[in-house]
Amino acid sequence: MPPGTGDAQLTISQQVPLTGAVIVSTPQDIALLDARKGLNMFRQVDVPVLGIVENMSYFKCPHCGEHTNIFSHGGAKDEAKKLDIDFLGEIPLDIEIRETSDGGHPIIDKNPDSPHAEAYRQIAQHVWAKATAILEHKATATPKIVM
Ligand SMILES: [Zn+2]
Repeated sequence: MPPGTGDAQLTISQQVPLTGAVIVSTPQDIALLDARKGLNMFRQVDVPVLGIVENMSYFKCPHCGEHTNIFSHGGAKDEAKKLDIDFLGEIPLDIEIRETSDGGHPIIDKNPDSPHAEAYRQIAQHVWAKATAILEHKATATPKIVM
């Protein structure tokens, strides 16, 4: 969902059966403010928050490989700690990620051995493990009707 906690977000979180939510935020304070609002909205409608991902965590220069913290760095990790939810990982601002995504073959498909693909894989594994645990818990917690 796009940032915000307006009618669209609220309607989806109330009417679509959601196993959990992942909050994606850039590292700077102003973005984390929105992330916090989103988190509170999901908590209000009883959708478990699986964790926070820091997007555009740093810029990797395509020429020299140097890292620059354009939007600051580490804010989402600190926020996750403060809010007592999992930090799922960071995704850099990187030309290859942008190009492969816009081209319809995300980096995980186009360049699966790259460190960026590995970052996505780590996040996906973490989310999968948490979602699976929630679904298994729901399955065992559902009351059985005995005739
Ligand atoms: Zn450079």
